[in-house]
Amino acid sequence: MTVVQHVPKQLFIGGGWQDAESGRTLSVDNPATGEELCQVADASPADGRRAVEAAVAAQAAWAATAPRVRSEILRRAFDLIIARTEDLALLMTLEMGKPLAEARAEVAYAAEFFRWFSEEAVRIDGGMMTAPDGRNRLLVTRQPVGPCLLITPWNFPLAMGTRKIGPAIAAGCTMVLKPAPQTPLSSLALAEILTEAGLPEGVLNIVVTSDAAGVVEPLLRGERSEMGVPPAGGWGKIRKLSFTGSTQVGRILLAQCADTVIRTSMELGGNAPLIVFDDADLDVAIEGTMVAKMRNMGESCCAANRIYVHTSIADEFATRLAARMAALKVGPGTAPGTDVGPLIDRVGRSKAHDVVRDAVKRGAKVLTGGELPEGPGCFYPPTVLTDVTPDAAINDTEVFGPVAAIITFDEEDEALAAANSTEFGLAAYLFTQNLDRALRVSERLESGMIGLNTGLVSNPAAPFGGVKQSGLGREGGRVGIDEFLEYKYIAVPVG
Ligand code: ADP
Repeated sequence: MTVVQHVPKQLFIGGGWQDAESGRTLSVDNPATGEELCQVADASPADGRRAVEAAVAAQAAWAATAPRVRSEILRRAFDLIIARTEDLALLMTLEMGKPLAEARAEVAYAAEFFRWFSEEAVRIDGGMMTAPDGRNRLLVTRQPVGPCLLITPWNFPLAMGTRKIGPAIAAGCTMVLKPAPQTPLSSLALAEILTEAGLPEGVLNIVVTSDAAGVVEPLLRGERSEMGVPPAGGWGKIRKLSFTGSTQVGRILLAQCADTVIRTSMELGGNAPLIVFDDADLDVAIEGTMVAKMRNMGESCCAANRIYVHTSIADEFATRLAARMAALKVGPGTAPGTDVGPLIDRVGRSKAHDVVRDAVKRGAKVLTGGELPEGPGCFYPPTVLTDVTPDAAINDTEVFGPVAAIITFDEEDEALAAANSTEFGLAAYLFTQNLDRALRVSERLESGMIGLNTGLVSNPAAPFGGVKQSGLGREGGRVGIDEFLEYKYIAVPVG
């Protein structure tokens, strides 16, 4: 528990740790026990506003800071995160539930965003060209978009922060981070690390709050005149929102950003299809499905949600998958040998169980799992369902839990149509040894990312993001920094 004791429990504003103005705190609980880990300052709208003021005050100097300096801060922070892997992993397991081995993997993944963007910070380029009429020279340069609001979810408490903070620092933006109230400790620990790495005060500010809607809305909408729009020179000071969370909340935030024409990056929900063709290597397909389904207990927006298996191999696939799932050890993430930790809370667990009960009511068979365990904590057993019918809720509900729903198909077109029959388009997975089919199906799948004979798509060097109602923009890769930069064009007539 000492890792929890050592983390600051206050808001981080203007380089200092502060209590909430109201003096209120919120409770951070351990999902493995249901017990409270600690109390953390609970921000009100006034605190949110102070955090934005700090980010605004720091913006000009930060934008003028040499790219090499920004780069080296990120690189030092990368080294510090790696050096503190064990403490950060334990902290994450305690506040979020994932097994320690997965938490360690997330620490490495999270740190990698800082290394990647430390390399990108010094490669922000522009251009110069002669206009078609031969007279003007067109100079194009790039500048930071300005103070950003970053909103992150609880499922990857460290990596969702670094994936936004990394490119913002690299681009020269200041920021206010609002982490999920369930898992604020990883972000607060990260603020300490970045301070140690030399991040100037005010560049990163953190507000934790139990009133996300109340704190965030005024920051995005700014002050309103009687006409209902922000007055000229009014208080709309955030220039960019980067959000990761549900599509439902994403829609609300997009509407709020419309008022003040704030740029957005939205990483929203998913409903990933996973297709196993009859020409797949079954060992590879089972392994890939285990990763796509069970990474992070299924609490990932990239998690395989609908598993389409060719009829000719469906029985063998289901039997083998059920055997692997049944062999997983469920328990507290801190216990040695645990494969599957608790879900984030009782609400999350009820949602997963409701989807299972609905499928069973409509004719699905349970090969393993499906029973709500008794006792403390938010545990749910790895579950495999077969004979899932098209009208089952699981077809269009993001489960966010360890539930694998198997649906059979006969024709490639049938699988594709089913896979695409969703308003989401984040990740998709396909397993086949036929290259022609692999490319054909990949091109026709309506999703931003595809795992081809693999269950893992996340990679800091790749552009992560979705199409349709899964979001706008990309994080990571060469394009990740673009989301935090504006183009500026300077026209220069030459005699
Ligand atoms: P999840 O269901 O995974 O918790 P949410 O979309 O509810 O996903 O939450 C993701 C992040 O968005 C969290 O930091 C949460 O506090 C925040 N959030 C939730 N509702 C709002 C809102 N109305 N305005 C701003 N942020 C919100």
